Amino acid sequence: MKREIRQRCGFGCVVCGLPLYEYEHMIEWSKTKRHVADEITLLCNLHHAEKTRGLLSVADVVRANENPKNLRSGDSAPYDLHFSGETCLVSMGSNQALHLFSQSLVANALVIDGFPVIKFEKIGDHLLLSLRIDGRDGKRILEIDNNELKYSIDSWDIELVGTSLTIRGGLRKILAEIKFDPAKGVTISRGIFARGDHLIRVEPDYLFDEKRNVRMSNAFVGGCPGWAFAF
Ligand SMILES: [Zn+2]
Repeated sequence: MKREIRQRCGFGCVVCGLPLYEYEHMIEWSKTKRHVADEITLLCNLHHAEKTRGLLSVADVVRANENPKNLRSGDSAPYDLHFSGETCLVSMGSNQALHLFSQSLVANALVIDGFPVIKFEKIGDHLLLSLRIDGRDGKRILEIDNNELKYSIDSWDIELVGTSLTIRGGLRKILAEIKFDPAKGVTISRGIFARGDHLIRVEPDYLFDEKRNVRMSNAFVGGCPGWAFAF
């Protein structure tokens, strides 16, 4: 039932599209005492609080639910991630890249065809992650641009639970599984990184280069100022 609600609402708050939301009974639950998917919508913390206080009317929530923000735009509203520290660790299917920003300000963790698909950059006090996941058809599934996370709502299911983002193309078909650790880095346990005619697949135990038929696991690159993993 929750998936049905997420799909109907475009995987975000129906008012503003934020990927961080709660399931909310549009009509007070104490009056209905039932869980019907059609009566439940997605609201972010702000819009949930506004509704609870009466600053956002039920009628406006119902209207937003009928025409959710993300369904109108095709993408989620951007959500800003927060990273900090003097090092960053990127884990990709049992392979790890550790970077020290005292050595250089840019950490290219995964590079495909010369393009950094996973990159951390230190600008002043800010630690910024950029990451792209494109599907086999070349369509953008997820984009994080300098910490600003945005996903296409074309995927079958998208869920941000705790610090983990999971994007599915169908039942048992995970397109991306990413865990964000703001003080440490990012862990990708599943993902498809397509770039040109290259496709790198990340599975929990390995990283697989489909073009060259190369499988890589348990590799560690530490303190490398250039590219960590390049294909
Ligand atoms: Zn909202």
